[in-house]
Amino acid sequence: MAAPQLKVWGTLLKEVVTNDLCMFCGTCIASCPVNVLIPTDDERPTIKGMCVLCGLCYHSCPRIELPVDDIEERLYGRIRNENEAYTGVIRAAYSVRSTDPKIRSIAQDSGATTSILAHALSRGLIDCTVTAGTSGSDYWRPRPRISRSVEELLSTVKSKYSAGAQVSGVADAAVGNPGSRIGLVGLPCQIEGARRLAMSPLGNQKIGKHVKLAIGIFCVDSFKFNKLFLEFVQEKNQIPLRQVEKVDIKNNRFILTAGEKVLMDLPVEELKPYVLPACSRCQDFTAELSDISIGAVGSPKGWTTVLVRSEFGEEVFKSALDEGVIESNPLSEVKPGLPLVVKLSKMKKQRQAPYVRRRSQQ
Ligand SMILES: Cc1cc2nc3c(=O)[nH]c(=O)nc-3n(C[C@H](O)[C@H](O)[C@H](O)COP(=O)(O)OP(=O)(O)OC[C@H]3O[C@@H](n4cnc5c(N)ncnc54)[C@H](O)[C@@H]3O)c2cc1C
Ligand code: SF4
Ligand code: SF4
Ligand code: SF4
Repeated sequence: MAAPQLKVWGTLLKEVVTNDLCMFCGTCIASCPVNVLIPTDDERPTIKGMCVLCGLCYHSCPRIELPVDDIEERLYGRIRNENEAYTGVIRAAYSVRSTDPKIRSIAQDSGATTSILAHALSRGLIDCTVTAGTSGSDYWRPRPRISRSVEELLSTVKSKYSAGAQVSGVADAAVGNPGSRIGLVGLPCQIEGARRLAMSPLGNQKIGKHVKLAIGIFCVDSFKFNKLFLEFVQEKNQIPLRQVEKVDIKNNRFILTAGEKVLMDLPVEELKPYVLPACSRCQDFTAELSDISIGAVGSPKGWTTVLVRSEFGEEVFKSALDEGVIESNPLSEVKPGLPLVVKLSKMKKQRQAPYVRRRSQQ
């Protein structure tokens, strides 16, 4: 009888990375016990050094397998019901904004994400955060940033419309801090990665379990940074990225601004050539496996839709609300509300899924 095939980095490279399935979540990088996987600026992991053939990266990758039912049972104590088919498990849904005018003025939409995280950090509900920072000549390229103070966290506000291997930051934050509780902000695929990392029987659970609070942000697509931002925006259209103060996608327009000045305003349709290929195989719009999901869709301008999913997510949210860090209205009382979230989620679920199993096979 032939020996079972060893599934290691080479297998992951072939099945996912060179197969246009990799969404650069960074989970494999986080899982590697000898730190030989590294991020590249082409939104893919690569290897530098000697692989010890342990297989942790392969079995941690959410594009190899994502047993959604198992994960939901462990996170929420139940799987989603029929009404939640397009949203995932929801305990409560609100329209929310930060009460801090400073945070609102620097954040992407309502500042809810940053305010909730800042509250969790300053109240000791988590020890640090992993969010997406940006700096240097390729400004607007997201890179995992670890913050241990609110001041550091505030330097990572606003949406960067590319993938930045965020989950790799979890491993960096955990190194030397065995009991640390991390607040991770991630795109839906990154939250999938963090959950897979924590729960894969053959993957690197130890690292994944550091994620105490996962805040997922809504996402339709993300874009190849070099192609869209460096080549199209900066080189072709002569807009220096350092001059751009905000990148936004609203009402199907891609808009770059500096203060009140509009630097670029294009139909998002024109950005199709720059979409990360792996996004065409993604069905998750609302970060269905997070503790709290946040996005602009469904709420009035300046407010964000917040879906509270887990018990700990509820604890953090209520604590932020009780202390007046955020203000909220039930989502059922605002327009367009949950029906628009469901509509967009339904559209995304028409895409082909990369994995089919809902239960772990290992
Ligand atoms: C690629 C992308 C696509 C999105 N698509 C949609 C959409 O289709 N519909 C919708 O309603 N909302 C979408 N959003 C979410 C939206 O832009 C806001 O992030 C959300 O409304 C929260 O607003 P806020 O004011 O609370 O954010 P803030 O308080 O400004 O906080 C934003 C947080 O997100 C983190 N972050 C930024 N970029 C990234 C990134 N690339 N990867 C991981 N973390 C990041 C920041 O570090 C920060 O912690 C998208 C965001 C991104 C990055
Ligand atoms: S774990 Fe994430 S970054 Fe690594 S191969 Fe899989 S999808 Fe790509
Ligand atoms: S996780 Fe294991 S199999 Fe993957 S690259 Fe690292 S050493 Fe190799
Ligand atoms: S569309 Fe899916 S795969 Fe692409 S960045 Fe968003 S969550 Fe990740």
